[in-house]
Amino acid sequence: MDSCEVLIIGSGPGAISAAESYRDNGGGGRVLIVTTDTDAPYFRPPLSKDFLRGESEFDDITQHPPDWYSERNIEIHTGTTVVGLDSGARTAGLSTSETIDFQTAIIATGARPTPLPVPGGEHALLLRSFAEAATLRTAASQASSAVVIGAGFIGCEAAASLAARGVATTVVAPEQVPQAPRLGPDAGARILTMLDDAGVRYVGGPAVTRMEPDAVTLDDGVRIDSDLILAATGITPCTDIAEAAGLDLEDGRIVVDEHMRTSSDAILAVGDVAIAHNSTAGRRIATEHWQDAVDQGEIAGATAAGVSRSWDAVPGFFTTIGDHTLKYAAWGDGFDTAHLVERDGGFVVWYQSAGVTVGGLTYNSDDDYELAEKLVADHKPAPA
Ligand SMILES: Cc1cc2nc3c(=O)[nH]c(=O)nc-3n(C[C@H](O)[C@H](O)[C@H](O)COP(=O)(O)OP(=O)(O)OC[C@H]3O[C@@H](n4cnc5c(N)ncnc54)[C@H](O)[C@@H]3O)c2cc1C
Repeated sequence: MDSCEVLIIGSGPGAISAAESYRDNGGGGRVLIVTTDTDAPYFRPPLSKDFLRGESEFDDITQHPPDWYSERNIEIHTGTTVVGLDSGARTAGLSTSETIDFQTAIIATGARPTPLPVPGGEHALLLRSFAEAATLRTAASQASSAVVIGAGFIGCEAAASLAARGVATTVVAPEQVPQAPRLGPDAGARILTMLDDAGVRYVGGPAVTRMEPDAVTLDDGVRIDSDLILAATGITPCTDIAEAAGLDLEDGRIVVDEHMRTSSDAILAVGDVAIAHNSTAGRRIATEHWQDAVDQGEIAGATAAGVSRSWDAVPGFFTTIGDHTLKYAAWGDGFDTAHLVERDGGFVVWYQSAGVTVGGLTYNSDDDYELAEKLVADHKPAPA
């Protein structure tokens, strides 16, 4: 049986920053990264933006050059899935039939796209991995029309990128304006304008009931012909091995404390797959953002090296829809009020709950973004 000190499962931002942080915090044991992904670790955010527009290639979006891993003595096994995890015996079973024993395992398995469960749903492309992005880009190069199902950030970004390629693109989503339940109707109206600026048609309200290779049908009977269909209909955290290991879960994610420890001493978890206690929020927070996975990886790496650090940052991300970049700092678990304030050439939406700021969404207003992070961290009210 092969053995290592730290087994890291996955190769997204949470995994790579955990490996780096373990070394930076003095961890000297063998580090092994095992990932289903067949490609060397890469940045996902460009997959719906410049990569889809055809403005970057794989080499432009790799997380690190090969030397970076060898210099730190970090081993990576791509194209290999961890299929079983025994927290008592501290062993992991691999898809290659090998077994690895470890002192600490860090689960950074992220999430997979959730397909739309309608007849013909298999005709829609999905977007998470580089391989899926490459398939989408090839399809886009041969398409003159596209339907993107779902108006979350990945759906909006991908739709704007498809339109920028000259593909006539329609977004179909159940919300009257994009993301109204998550960000409020005023922010949704602004995102709708951004899609419009990018040349994307938005059909809000009806649900997709059926797909064919070249069309989607809506519940109001409308049929939209399309050379390409992309389902951007949310994600499902990859918790299979955590469930098999008997770890505590909440809302379909692995429960971790502020040090990224799961309910087992032997196992940590980070990133989209985790719901982590944030010591500033004073509660568990689930995030689906690149930087938060990096931050949590840094904490898990420190924990594995025996250094105590806590997750206390306010979650946040940037998104680019065509030429427009929105920045969002928020706990992301709901709000009582959403108040949009115009700025010169931009805006800020303040989100409050029980009288304190729980988030800020900004456009062309970086001072407000910094203020939002501070007000959220300090549990202070939004500016009058
Ligand atoms: C197209 C796209 C655009 C995005 N744009 C932005 C953006 O602009 N800003 C932003 O903040 N966020 C963005 N995100 C979200 C961001 O990429 C995620 O929040 C982030 O990647 C989560 O990192 P993670 O480390 O938790 O997992 P992931 O990056 O999902 O990595 C999980 C890894 O685990 C592997 N894996 C899964 N199961 C197993 C197993 N059993 N064994 C071995 N390996 C396994 C997978 O192959 C993968 O390598 C975007 C996401 C996508 C898909």
